[in-house]
Amino acid sequence: MDRLILWDVDGTLLTTDGIAAKAMHAAMRQVVGPSAPMERTAYAGKTDWLIIRESFPSLSGDGVAERLHEFMDAYCAGLELQRAALVARSQVFPGVAVLLDALGATARQAPLTGNIAAAARMKLECTGLLYLLDLEAGAYGDDHYDRAALVPIAAGRAARRYGRSFVGPQIVIVGDTPNDIACGKANGARTVAVATGPYSLAELAAYGPDAALPDLSDTDAALAAIMG
Ligand SMILES: [Mg+2]
Repeated sequence: MDRLILWDVDGTLLTTDGIAAKAMHAAMRQVVGPSAPMERTAYAGKTDWLIIRESFPSLSGDGVAERLHEFMDAYCAGLELQRAALVARSQVFPGVAVLLDALGATARQAPLTGNIAAAARMKLECTGLLYLLDLEAGAYGDDHYDRAALVPIAAGRAARRYGRSFVGPQIVIVGDTPNDIACGKANGARTVAVATGPYSLAELAAYGPDAALPDLSDTDAALAAIMG
């Protein structure tokens, strides 16, 4: 158990077929107004907190926190209304469940995602992945606006839970965007990019991850990429 594998959620483990994005946009419109950014790549790899912060450039820290809580309430309520649709239409990417299960024997695994914690939990619950990750050791889009700051937050939680520290390449960041790669590199972690989100394998490779995969369907290739 000398690795801490931190998984991005959307585009890496699963897709909600646009259901969560729609709920998020509705919550954003409610809090931000009609000028809320709607581009898929405008959100990719960003924390929900950062998206709110960028949507209110004139607000101070306290003002942003207030808006973030308004957004969280609206977003969670919207997701809850879509729970049946999330269960019916969300998809776990090929190989993910087998890979998480295989890694569970030798590594600690938790989410590291721009999703607020409640949204991450709901997505993992609705896709049956919840039991494969330790949510208490993860870090989320309501912990900090800067994704790079989420790595030490998760490492600290993991250290408290498991009674040991994880440093440098003992931490592995797996994600589908340049922001995932950057947050791992900023913390000296191993980085694995997977091209099941909005970026192609070539686009991700240009950011210099330690490994890049088209998807996670080849369990042996994915284990090699992650364990190094
Ligand atoms: Mg992602």
